Order: sequence, then C-alpha cells, then structure tokens
Amino acid sequence: MELLENVKTRVYKFGNKEADGNREMKNLLGGKGANLAEMSSIGIPVPPGFTITTEVCTEYNQLGEEAAMGFIRDEVESAIANIENIMGTKFGDKENPLLISVRSGARVSMPGMMDTVLNLGLNDDAVLGIAKQTNNERFAWDSYRRFIQMYGGVVLGMKPESKEDIDPFEEIMEALKHKRDIELDTEFTIQDLKDLVYDFKEAVKKRTGHDFPTDPWDQLTGAIIAVFNSWNGDRAIYYRNMNGYPSEWGTAVNVQAMVYGNMGLDSGTGVCFTRDAATGENIFNGEYLIDAQGEDVVAGVRTPQQITKIGSQRWAELAQVEEEDRIANYPSLEELMPEIYKELNEYQEKLELHYRDMQDMEFTIQQGKLWILQTRNGKRTGAAMVKIAMDSCKEGLITEEEALLQIEPNKLDELLHPVFDPKALASAQAIAQGLPASPGAATGKIVFFADEAARYKSSILVRIETSPEDLEGMNIARGILTARGGMTSHAAVVARGMGKCCVSGAGALKIDYKSRTLTVDGHEYHEGDWISLNGSTGHIFEGKVPTIEPELSGEFAEIMDLSEKFTKMQVRTNADSPKDAQVARNFGAQGIGLTRTEHMFFEVDRIKAMREMILADTVKGRKEALKELLPMQRSDFEGIFEAMAGLPVTVRLLDPPLHEFVPHQLETQRSLAEDMHITLQEVKNKVAELEEFNPMLGHRGCRLGITYPEITEMQARAIIEAALNLKERGIVAKPEIMVPLIGTIAEFESQEAIIRATADKVFEERNDTVEYLVGTMIEIPRAALTADLIAKKADFFSFGTNDLTQMAFGYSRDDAGKFLPIYIEKGILKVDPFEVLDQEGVGQLVEIGTTKGRSTKKDLKVGICGEHGGEPSSVEFCYNTGMNYVSCSPYRVPIARVAAAQAAIKATR
Ligand code: ADP
Ligand code: MG
Ligand code: MG
Repeated sequence: MELLENVKTRVYKFGNKEADGNREMKNLLGGKGANLAEMSSIGIPVPPGFTITTEVCTEYNQLGEEAAMGFIRDEVESAIANIENIMGTKFGDKENPLLISVRSGARVSMPGMMDTVLNLGLNDDAVLGIAKQTNNERFAWDSYRRFIQMYGGVVLGMKPESKEDIDPFEEIMEALKHKRDIELDTEFTIQDLKDLVYDFKEAVKKRTGHDFPTDPWDQLTGAIIAVFNSWNGDRAIYYRNMNGYPSEWGTAVNVQAMVYGNMGLDSGTGVCFTRDAATGENIFNGEYLIDAQGEDVVAGVRTPQQITKIGSQRWAELAQVEEEDRIANYPSLEELMPEIYKELNEYQEKLELHYRDMQDMEFTIQQGKLWILQTRNGKRTGAAMVKIAMDSCKEGLITEEEALLQIEPNKLDELLHPVFDPKALASAQAIAQGLPASPGAATGKIVFFADEAARYKSSILVRIETSPEDLEGMNIARGILTARGGMTSHAAVVARGMGKCCVSGAGALKIDYKSRTLTVDGHEYHEGDWISLNGSTGHIFEGKVPTIEPELSGEFAEIMDLSEKFTKMQVRTNADSPKDAQVARNFGAQGIGLTRTEHMFFEVDRIKAMREMILADTVKGRKEALKELLPMQRSDFEGIFEAMAGLPVTVRLLDPPLHEFVPHQLETQRSLAEDMHITLQEVKNKVAELEEFNPMLGHRGCRLGITYPEITEMQARAIIEAALNLKERGIVAKPEIMVPLIGTIAEFESQEAIIRATADKVFEERNDTVEYLVGTMIEIPRAALTADLIAKKADFFSFGTNDLTQMAFGYSRDDAGKFLPIYIEKGILKVDPFEVLDQEGVGQLVEIGTTKGRSTKKDLKVGICGEHGGEPSSVEFCYNTGMNYVSCSPYRVPIARVAAAQAAIKATR
C-alpha cells in the first residue's frame, strides 16, 4: 500500500468556475496563482490552468531538475488533461492543439522581475492546426515566431548578454526587413513569417548546438525549469534584496491555456485599476489595445487607448487630440465595445468588493469573449495609499482596523518630504546609485566642505564621509551625498534626524578634496555644478531635477487620528533642537525620547568652549570652560522643554568619544592654540592623546562623566535650571535625565549621585523644585543581563539599540559598511541589523532587560531610542515586548504611530 499521507499536492488546478486553491494560499501558490484560483471559484472567467507550488521550486533548488520533475510529472499530466477537457483541445495535436502560457509568480508581486513564456505547444504540426482552427494562417505563423523568440530568450539563454549586444532574433528580423525594404512587423508576409521561423530555429541550433525542442512536453519541462531559475536571476535577486524578501520563498509556476487578444478587430488586451493608483481617486481606469497580445500594452510600441470614456477624454485633452480624432482613432473600450466594457466593469466592482482593496487587473478579449488573466492588490503611491484606505473605510468597504492595516508605514515617507516632479524624473538620467539613507529629493550645487555649504543658495554636500564637525554644513545643505558609510553612518543618521535628503555609501564616486572634483564613471564634476539626489531610491542625477512640495492631505491627518485610537504605546521623538521638537510635535510626537546634548556643542560659538574644556589640563580649567557652556546648554533645554511643554523630555548626558570634538585641521588647531594661549604643538599633542584604537568601546558615555564629574554636574544643573526657569513662566517641563552606556549598577549609582546632589543644590538656591527622573540607557549587553539590579535605582530604561546591536553582534557601526553589504548579498544576514532590529538575538537582550527590570520595578517605564524606533517591524516588536514608548526621528513619527497601531490591532487578532 502506498503511504498516502506522504504524498503532498504539488499541483493545484483551476478553471471552469472551480479551483483547488484559494486566495489565502499565496505562500504556496504565489500571489498570481492564489488569485487565479480565487477568481475561478467566484465565477470570474479565467483561462483554465494549474499552479505548481513554490515548494517545488525549493525542491528543485535543493535536489535538482530530475527529482523535482519526477515529483510532479503525474500531477502535471493530469492537470494538462483537465485543461484539454475544458478547452476541447489537445496538447501537441496536429488538428486542434492546446497552447499554454507558463508564468512565474512569487508570493508577492515582483513585476517584470521573473520570466513568462507564451504560446507554448507550438511546433511545425501545431502551427498548421492553429491556422486551421483559427482560419488565420498569418496569426498562426506570427504566434509561432513569437514563441521561438520568447522561448529562445527565456529558456534557451539566447538573451543578449550585454546592453550593447543585439538580440539575435531581432537581428534576423531587422535583416529581413532591410532585404524586403519594409519597416514594421505588420508588413511581413506569411511567407516572411515562415522564413523567420526557419531562420530562428537555425539560430537556436547554431547558438545552443541543439534543435529547437518540438515535443510540447519537452517545451513545458524547459519552461517550468526556466521559471524556477528566474527566481535566482539577477533582476529577481536585486529586487528581493531591495525589499528584504528571503530567497527561500521561491516562485510558483502558473500554466494556463492561451487566449488571444491578437485575433483581429474583435480582440484585444489591456490592464485596468479599480481606483487611480497615483492619486487614489475612486475612478475605474486603465488602458487597452485592439488586436494585441500580452505585453504589447506596456511595451509602448502603439499608443494604448483608455478604458472609460471619461478617462479617454481626459487623456485626449492632455495629449491634445481633437474629439473627432479621438473617436475615430482612439475610442475608449466603453464606446467601442459597450457590452465587453459592461462586463469588465462588473468584474472590477466584484473583485474590489471581494478583495476589499484596490485591484490591478490584466484582461484579454478573444473574438468578443472577455477573459481575466490576473488580479492583485494594486501598487500605489503614498498619497493614493492613504486616500484609498480612508475612502474605503468611509464607504464601508473596510473597517477602521483594516484601513490602518492597509497602510504600508514606510510609504508615508513620501508624504513628508519634498519630492521630484514625476514628469521630470521620467526623463532624468541617473549617474550612480547609493543607499537611500534619508528620503526626499534634493537639488543643489556641489560643495565638498561643510563650511562652504553656505556658498550657494542650494548646495549638496558631497563627502567621502561626514563627521560631527560637519553638522552645521549638513544642516545648511539641501542634501548630503557620501561615498562611504551605510544606513547608520553619521551622515545617514543625522540626515534622517534633520529630515534631510541623503544618499550614502555611493561606492562609484571618486571624491578628491584637493582638486575639489567628483568623478563618476570617468565623468568629472566640479564645485558649483548642479546635481540632484533621490533619497528614497539612492539615485544620483546630473543637473537640476525640479522638485515639488508635499501636501499633507486631509486623509493623512485622518489616518493619524485613527492610529491614536488603537494603541496605548506612545511615540516620542529624537530631537536635539526646538525646531526638531516642534516638527515632531506637529506630527503627533508625545514627548522626546532622546535629546543628544553633544549635538548642541557643535554650533560655532560653542565648539570653542567645548574644545577648551576638553583640552584643559586641570579640573579648574575644565570648570571654567564648562561655566561658559552652562548658559548655552540651559537655553537650549529651555527651548526644547518649551516646544514640548507638558510632555516628557529625555535628555541624555554627554556620550561620544571626546576626540570627535577636537579640531583635526591645522588652521583650526592654530586658532584654538591662540585662544587658549598655548602652543600649536600642545594642541596637537592633546589631539593625539585623545586618539583611541576603538573609540566606540573607549572613553565615552558615562565613562566621561565618571572621569570628569564636573561635566555631569554642569549638564544636570543646566537641565534643572532650565526646568525651573520655565516653571516661573508657567510652563510645565518634565525632564528625564538619562545616563548613557552603563554596564554595571555602580556606574549608574555614581552618576545618579552627582545628578541628584546637583539638583538638590539648585533647588536650594532657587528655593523651588521640579519633578525629574533619572534613568539609563540599556545599550551594553551586560546592562540588559543585570537589568534587575539596575532597575533598583533607575527610574526608567531606554534601549539604545544602535549600540546594543553593535555590541551584541560585535560589528563596529563605523566599519560595518565594509562587510554588511556583502553579508546581505551572500545571504549571511537577511537585512542590515542596524536598520531592522534583530529580534532573534538583540531582541532577546531587549526582552531580558525589560522582564528583569520589571521584576524589580513593576511599572518601570521602558522605551527605545535607537534608529529602530521608527522601523515598522521593530516597532511591532517593541509593542509586543510591552514597551511604553518608541522614539524616532521627527520625520518618522507618523510612520511609527501607524506601525504602533498596526501592532496593537494584530495583537488582538
Ligand atoms: P508578469 O508577472 O511579468 O506580469 P505575466 O505572467 O502576467 O507576467 O505575463 C505576461 C503577459 O502575458 C501579461 O500581459 C499576461 O496578461 C499575458 N499572458 C499570460 N498568460 C496568458 C494567457 N494564458 N493568455 C493570454 N495572455 C497571457
Ligand atoms: Mg502580469
Ligand atoms: Mg549609544
């Protein structure tokens, strides 16, 4: 007896209003296959066919062709027989042949990234059958030559190898056109098409050493394997990496009876959308072509026509086509084939209602009969996404929860930054691509030095990499471009904080500071030349690409309000200035989770005092310099507290290694020496002294406050005095003082003692008090592991997941750019852990820290302030860990708010 339970289904049939699969089975059948099954079973006319599961793709990748084909052979044969029954045709038959398409389809749609073969089953016999069956010899031979061409390219590897190479089949066609003195494919005679078929087959034989396969079953096997292979093609891998889709998913293979849109004037093909994918308006729209097949609509050879009459008229206006001309030459489907239009309109309504989301459909009309070939949730712009979700919710099509779940949080970015004018972008030529470090669009003149950013009204700061010294210039520049550094490089982090467009790590750039030139691909650019950056894609353009300001539409605000309704987890912001704080507050931030005090020290008037403090040899000298800094810090805090009136503000004490603050350029060193009345050599010695082998693990964080207690004292005083000053003005400030980088409870205790003593002293001086908290960052693994001890003293925890990731993985944040991209390419890591919180490893430290902390202090306030606080999957993790808040850069606040609401909704399901 056979072990029936070991026999799993690998082939799922659909057609004739029935299906083995359904829409829920996307992982197994791919998105296309699952939806073909679903459509078939709800009575939408899809050409019959079957889907080979994604599991077979994996089996193929592991065990090879023979094993994989062996597993499915019987099932495929019976599924083909099923199509034959429904269609009344026969695979490989001389009289009445069945032709099929073999289509790829992963669980998410990857448009154009993988391969499809149409018209499979044609050979020297079948072509005669098709000619007889359709009574159209020309059509039969044209299909045959298209098939050889497509099969040759996709299955037999006869695609041109480089962009310069010409497609071997195109070459043959061009030669024939030349010989016959004609221009268009449509001018070929039937004999020409027959000659082409002959020549194509010769070309195949010459290139591959084998005859073109004539047995339809061999053709089918070849096409199935080719579709599997296309999952590991360059395009697909690139797309997967870009979107973080794992390679284990694999693709399904959809085999389906061909239907023909190219059988004359009563046939056609098209694509349509149930709503407008650019604006989100609830308008059915799309394009079609008469007497055309498959890709013809997107290929752009002929001008496609509009589906609806209104759409057609709108199009005519833009294209400056007169109404008479429009009706004669470009009529809408609604006007040309009213019956078909009516039917299509019914299906689009039915499908949107069924899927409860905007649909993107492919259809073909064969001699007056309508077939639907694909439906999927349509891709859309950020603006359309928000409008469609809110509209659908108001129409009662979906619930509020579903509307929120329909939002792809990261796409909200598009609504928050200036964007390139899409029209201009279409014709712009990218000269290189880096990492999309901080979204938005920027256009400006090249400058190579931060202090020269102000030279032009709009400048783009182009650096090999940036350092904290460059901060001001970065703030002035419209955009930042670096040749080195990853998504958490200095340039990237700071730019995101500023909401400034940044492209980082563009390895193709050669930057020469001396000659002030930027060289890309042998082309030289100079200071003052215009360039444009697309921070959402990482593209770099030559010249000036025009931008438009984003509009925060009404629906956007409505989505934000909805988010509020569904989550208790708060979203705070990381903000270092009153301006940032205000921006974030406008986006709905409920406090500040991280103010980095060091950023305040980089402004021109402060850096000098800061440097004097650092270079001072004595405590006295240091205290003097700190005295100068105190009023500046205090007024900064006042500004921030005021912007966040009534909301909590977490202020982190000085954190970075001191050498980041000292001057490295000779000129600056000289002027500092003068100011401090010491020699240049003394300055140089000091700077050299501060160099560390491992600055990230060196003299930084609370280690500074422990070795120089006067720094902590000054900062604590500035914070408390600022709060008291506001209190006098009737404004409530809620400071939360945060000690960075502790690994032991003793470190925390030492800093806490200084802070509390200083606060008491100020309270006594002022004869008034304010409430404040003293807590700590958890960013060293040891702190997470001993969180129960630390929580005895700390009022709150904030997970600094940038450092925690660095230390858990042992990857230096500053050097990871050298190997992380390769790790991701090789699949050693799926995503950059500095971008997406590593839940499996680093996440454990977060969970341990939270659980242990709360085992000591039940209501311990816990948050996160790393870059991950604005990344949707990480936000969801934070929600599930039971955090009180996440904190992220101002421009990510709306994203985190939606992600937090989604996490809450998912948790109840
Ligand atoms: P992609 O995923 O790249 O869109 P598809 O598998 O959807 O690739 O196929 C490419 C084109 O071929 C589409 O226009 C599709 O409508 C058309 N096509 C696929 N299968 C058939 C078929 N059985 N009959 C007619 N046209 C088909
Ligand atoms: Mg398609
Ligand atoms: Mg840190």
